[in-house]
Amino acid sequence: MKLFSGKSRPVHLGPYPLERLHRETQPHVDLPDLTFPEVSFSAPHRPASIINAMGPFQAMMDALRSGAVNSTHAEIPDDPLERARHLKAFGYYNDASMMGICALPPSALLTAPRTNPDVAALVEDLKHRQTTTLATGIDAIMADLRDTAGADAGAIAHHTHAIVVLVAYPRDPSKDEAGSDWITDAQAQRAALRATENATVLAEYLRILGFDARAHSVTSSDVHLPKLALAAGLSVMQDGTPCVPWLGQRFGLAAITTDMTLAPDLPLCPLAQQPASVLRGHVWQLGTHGGASARSHDPYARRAFVDGPHPFETLKRVDNPTTYIDAPNVPRIPKRTDMFARGQFGDMGPKVQDAMKGGQHIVKSAPASAQRRLLGALILLQKGTPAPTVLDADPQRNAANLKAAAYFLGVDAAGSSACPDWTWYSHDATGTPIVPPHDQSLGLIIDQGFETMEGASGDDWISTAQSMRAYLRFSVLGGILAQHLRNLGFDAKAHTVMDGDVLQPPLLLLSGLGEVSRIGEVILNPFLGPRLKSGIVTHTMPVTHDKPIDFGLQKFCEACNKCARECPSGAITAGPKKMFNGYEIWKSDSQKCATYRITNKGGSMCGRCMKTCPWNLEGLFAEAPFRWAASTIPAAAPLLARLDDALGRGGLNPVKKWWWDIEHQRGGAVTAPTHPVNARDLQPDLKLRAEDQTLAVYPAPLAPHPWPYPDPMNREAGIKAHAALLTADEHRARSAAGAT
Ligand code: SF4
Repeated sequence: MKLFSGKSRPVHLGPYPLERLHRETQPHVDLPDLTFPEVSFSAPHRPASIINAMGPFQAMMDALRSGAVNSTHAEIPDDPLERARHLKAFGYYNDASMMGICALPPSALLTAPRTNPDVAALVEDLKHRQTTTLATGIDAIMADLRDTAGADAGAIAHHTHAIVVLVAYPRDPSKDEAGSDWITDAQAQRAALRATENATVLAEYLRILGFDARAHSVTSSDVHLPKLALAAGLSVMQDGTPCVPWLGQRFGLAAITTDMTLAPDLPLCPLAQQPASVLRGHVWQLGTHGGASARSHDPYARRAFVDGPHPFETLKRVDNPTTYIDAPNVPRIPKRTDMFARGQFGDMGPKVQDAMKGGQHIVKSAPASAQRRLLGALILLQKGTPAPTVLDADPQRNAANLKAAAYFLGVDAAGSSACPDWTWYSHDATGTPIVPPHDQSLGLIIDQGFETMEGASGDDWISTAQSMRAYLRFSVLGGILAQHLRNLGFDAKAHTVMDGDVLQPPLLLLSGLGEVSRIGEVILNPFLGPRLKSGIVTHTMPVTHDKPIDFGLQKFCEACNKCARECPSGAITAGPKKMFNGYEIWKSDSQKCATYRITNKGGSMCGRCMKTCPWNLEGLFAEAPFRWAASTIPAAAPLLARLDDALGRGGLNPVKKWWWDIEHQRGGAVTAPTHPVNARDLQPDLKLRAEDQTLAVYPAPLAPHPWPYPDPMNREAGIKAHAALLTADEHRARSAAGAT
């Protein structure tokens, strides 16, 4: 937990107090000769190492390091300093530890560029993989890979600037701590992978803006990354070796070179000339600058990897979720039921279908468009054939290894459960019946990021990119875990936003990652609130299971309806929980929600419910009393909800708005938005009543057929279905009377 709030710290400054360090007055003219370490993603002599599973993902990102450049420059600010700040903030948003920028020094160009030897093999291997995704265009993805994987290494001759991405190591896993079997000696690969993901997205973003750009990783590069870190003011020479303040040599690097002119950072002065208060004293010890501190920058400094960054061990565990699931009577429904699938096939009318054509509802956000390319390519790595030999089968040890690996890679919460048949869709995206192939589930949660949420209305021009960032992170990290399980001989699949066969909310409940909230299908986590995206890895490895949690949310949401009040589409119910398809939930109107998100003209998609919820917390020590009272004193819920409103929490914080309001048009141009930008503030005086809402729901009897062609929705029937929903008690009474 942090002691000092970062609410007044602009995002482009990042978590470390780099801006308080002394800098040279001129850029380095000559860079010293340095070693550029080799990092291998192949460890055949250590078959249980997670490194082996990271290899294809690193290769996929290296394959996408170049690409087509938009033919026109975007309508963005001309100021090189504003551009530099914007791109650094985007890098920090992607969870870089540090970002720096320099003019590209000729002495940092490699005479022999590095090429990842795994890329060609990956592209060849992918030709033989099958997918069942609704996101068609696999052929286009393959063509994209073939085109860029062999791109000309001399392509950066006209690049003038470099953006450097630095990722810090967490503590080294100890060989005798629970869950360390797979993750020892993998720090360099982990940091390289995370930095490469960031650089791949930023390079694509620059190309969408109309500037040439190329990502450089430790495995595929035209530039000397350690020299660039020195030039960009991230490291200094100390005893003949590059050293990063607060981190020493414990970091990994990636970079983007570009022809966009950017304001460079100056090199750092030697460590001996730096202010002691910033380097070692109170600024660093307490985090008075509002960012990372000696206490908080490595969440695993005092915690085991298997336990994760948040104190889940303090939560009350229960045998069953806090909301009723009538498991024997949960109907399996086709994947085609998903509202985005229904919109795509025209079930929700031509306006929605047109807004989704070509994924325009996503790619009209330029940052989301940049994330979307890699996200699409990773579909190809979600599943595969397991190795013929099974390596390990001790359920407790397996569970510890799985969770520790997830946390080491960078997920924010992980939980294991069984994967009952009723959590699987009945048919996949092509209409083929699904026979559940796996009986185990690993639920993973990715934080959507407090800082950016602070600056956003929830339905403006960053909203889609908030979702896509988390979806992409899961696709990389969940994909690696699934690959690793297959390497160990167990079948496994990562169920991503692009291609998933399971309903995620019940699996998150079973694995103790949250409780049902008023928002509806969103499971709320006690440490991240609803500010999350989830992903599931299903598998066949025997593991022990986590139990559901009870942190008092049911009482809290009964006393609070802030998300319903603030929802721009009026899709969240202000009424009580009801049974829907065998689950007790606050059933929202998914049709209204999806329609608003897809056709939103003042921004791109929407996540305003997560933005305004009182559980969307910064992670401050000062917030601990709220969480304690909300979790342990049910009677305090109405007071806490009112207090949250009185403090104006959930409003806009302009300090945190780092993104540009730009719209990526269908023709490719990136322009100023065509409609006024949503910039909503709270409406505490609005009294929303359930009886004034008209909501529609589509339970199993109203579900569409499973095939990929239209099946129009009948909203009148949906409204009647909503009126007919039963409470859990009514449902149980009917079941007891044999009427279900
Ligand atoms: Fe529950 Fe209030 Fe958050 Fe909605 S805003 S999910 S009602 S706590």
